[in-house]
Amino acid sequence: MAILLGSIADDYTGASDLANTLTKNGLRTVQTVGIPDPSLALPDVDAVVISLKIRSVPASDAVAAAASAEQWLRQRGAGHVLYKICSTFDSTDAGNIGPVTEALSEAAGGDVVLVTPAFPETGRTVYLGHLFVGGQPLNESPLKDHPLNPMHDANLVRVLTRQSRNAVGLIDLTTIAAGPGAVKMRLDSFRTAGVTAVIADAIFEHDLETLGEVALETPVSTGASGLGLGLARALVRSGRISSGGATTADAIRPVGGLSAIVAGSCSKATLHQLDVAERSMPVLRLDPERLLAGPDEIATAISWAGDRISAGPVVVAASAAPETVSRLQSLYGREASGHAIETATSIIAAELVERGVRRLVVAGGETSGAAVDRLAIPAFLIGPEIAPGVPVLRTIGNAQGDMLLALKSGNFGGEDFFTAALAMMR
Ligand code: ADP
Repeated sequence: MAILLGSIADDYTGASDLANTLTKNGLRTVQTVGIPDPSLALPDVDAVVISLKIRSVPASDAVAAAASAEQWLRQRGAGHVLYKICSTFDSTDAGNIGPVTEALSEAAGGDVVLVTPAFPETGRTVYLGHLFVGGQPLNESPLKDHPLNPMHDANLVRVLTRQSRNAVGLIDLTTIAAGPGAVKMRLDSFRTAGVTAVIADAIFEHDLETLGEVALETPVSTGASGLGLGLARALVRSGRISSGGATTADAIRPVGGLSAIVAGSCSKATLHQLDVAERSMPVLRLDPERLLAGPDEIATAISWAGDRISAGPVVVAASAAPETVSRLQSLYGREASGHAIETATSIIAAELVERGVRRLVVAGGETSGAAVDRLAIPAFLIGPEIAPGVPVLRTIGNAQGDMLLALKSGNFGGEDFFTAALAMMR
């Protein structure tokens, strides 16, 4: 079956967020890790989200990777491709939102592209082209101090113009409130003027539904999960979803095997979830300095887990309180220590899978990315949500057989997240 909606996500956790949003809004969705191998057999789905890591790489690399992903999606029938960016418009003056948007437009015949990072559910709204994060303009929000892409300008028309070869337009809220017909007319005038990218205001989900309906008639759009919501709802309204809406039941068919939790997030929520888990299952707190010193701590962890895992789920955590993290970072550097610990937790996850774990919870965005890469999982079918923003994932084409995973970004989930996740993963 041909897919109806394709998406290229500029990072892994953004891809999961979008895939989850599409599923919740009625599309049966698969998230792939990178561009799938031609031999990968995908189930019948309405949408495919290809996860790439191109948010902060050189623009030419991002364009090349996105172009290959676009070809893959078009060959499988995708009539519309959404370039999924961060809802805070994370980028620099060099890109990569502008260059990738222009390249995707060009590949699809040069049509105009609607662009909006609005996602009202998470407080991201756009008014007169200005992005607000909660109650603050982008340049006054914590994003002004982002370590990789500090955002100093809330005016997205200006931001995108600096990254683009062609002129950038604006469709304001008044036009959007007037409905799809008014937006189409405005888009036509930009088309005639040779404008490639048009920032669109959106404050409410209804605005995104209007934009989704209009975008579906064009080949490419650029936006966050909010625009995904608009596109999904427009597709469902159009009656083109033959699967009769997303059923997540087959994504959580039992897989059996052993279960484990690996944590690398040091967020307040994760630290509390670990304390709560300690009441009902064995938890190993790794020694971060020993982890950095060599492979011994990894071997100790694997042997500790091996002794206990047949009796029930175990937790292995590198997570530590802020004072411990800062001490380690001042000794070894922020990036080096983070990367070394991600490598260690991903090796531990892979070794546990080697020993029969088929239900795996990973806490931490970067920690999850490293684990998924090491496990070489090609794709996931999106299942029901465990907590807002965290679905159960079923592997597709996994060498070790079907697994269920939950990949949790730091602050997500309630205090009993780990037991709640395992209760849904049988
Ligand atoms: P979150 O989703 O909470 O941001 P991430 O996994 O993205 O979690 O980031 C957490 C980072 O902290 C990872 O790079 C991880 O390797 C690192 N880390 C984990 N434990 C420690 C520790 N004890 N000391 C220093 N860094 C750590």
